[in-house]
Amino acid sequence: MTMKSKDNRNPSFRTKAIHHRKDFIGGTGSLMPPIFQTSTFEFGNKDAFDYTRSGNPNFRILESLLNSLEESNYCTVFNSGISAITAIASSLKSNDIILCEKNLYGCTIRLFEQVFKKFGIKSQFIDFTNSESYKTIDELNPQLIWIETPTNPLLKIVDIKNVCLEANKKGIPVVVDNTFCTSYIQKPIELGATLSLISTTKFINGHSDALGGAVMTMDKAWNDKLKFAQKSLGLQPSPMDCWLTTRGVKTLPLRIEYQSNSAENIASKLLNHPLINTLNYPFLRTHSSKEIAKKQMRLGGSMITMKLKLNKEETFLFCKKLKFFTLAESLGGVESLVSHPSTMSHASVDKKTKESIGITDSLIRFSIGCEDSDDLFYDLKQALDQFK
Ligand SMILES: *Cc1c(COP(=O)(O)O)cnc(C)c1O
Repeated sequence: MTMKSKDNRNPSFRTKAIHHRKDFIGGTGSLMPPIFQTSTFEFGNKDAFDYTRSGNPNFRILESLLNSLEESNYCTVFNSGISAITAIASSLKSNDIILCEKNLYGCTIRLFEQVFKKFGIKSQFIDFTNSESYKTIDELNPQLIWIETPTNPLLKIVDIKNVCLEANKKGIPVVVDNTFCTSYIQKPIELGATLSLISTTKFINGHSDALGGAVMTMDKAWNDKLKFAQKSLGLQPSPMDCWLTTRGVKTLPLRIEYQSNSAENIASKLLNHPLINTLNYPFLRTHSSKEIAKKQMRLGGSMITMKLKLNKEETFLFCKKLKFFTLAESLGGVESLVSHPSTMSHASVDKKTKESIGITDSLIRFSIGCEDSDDLFYDLKQALDQFK
């Protein structure tokens, strides 16, 4: 949706996040859209809706909103991030290769290795933070390149622009899983990606009460494939979840900005705590790829990972001593969460692979929420101090 004002200024992200399309109003003046809780539509309607598996006004409102935020041409929404990933991978065929960053979200690896592999779609995993890895692009000539940055949970930073430059030379589409940043912090399409994917379950919705996924692109042919997958695989979201997400995204800039500043502040204050072996935060001076992070990200995000000088049982005990951090899967909500990746988000990845990429038993991941930053800092500090 273009929303140029009379003086020809383009509205900023914050404004666009709040002003979604209004063509649902009819004569009512309603500010918020209704929930179009319908499975079917009268044949021959002007907007060509037929059945909610292949489209619904609540999908359309959310799609046009996410499109305007990413500044892309097309968006398709799904019932989860994993459904969005399924939609993209299902466009491949037997013997095609997906060349992946080796530290992907655990369930993405599980989907590729335990589901799509059975249908002959191969996945290979390399370290995209090492530019030597670009040789593998030449050698393998994959059908798709799949990266995530910052990675979950290690917060490695992949140079999106460089990977896309390499891939585009050979016409290989690049998928960027942008869940940890959203288009507020990082714009994969602008950096050369073909597809920008988001689990809207996390920051976009932000209130831990709906699941969803979205894929944005400039390419109509790709969007046609995604819309085809949405209806033919039954990957569509519910109208209610789209409605909640449309409401949630209005405060995304406010939330993510406060959460990121809070995370950066907490990370820098905890950096030298004696119980912490290593602490990762993309914008911290100690992060090995902070220059790339600062080049492609507007903010450092609200995720922090640490390796503690504790064994597995003690690490779990540490998590339990926190007052304001709930031990739970997920991230990006208004409430702070702590997770133990090796037994939670990456439980399905085999032990050898986990250890080879650094997901050990003493690794914990924090999602900094919207609580007061000092309250969170002192909560972390009291728990760390108990193990001195
Ligand atoms: C959570 C997550 C997903 C999957 O999204 P769901 O909505 O849980 O299916 C994909 N990628 C990343 C990076 C995630 O954190």
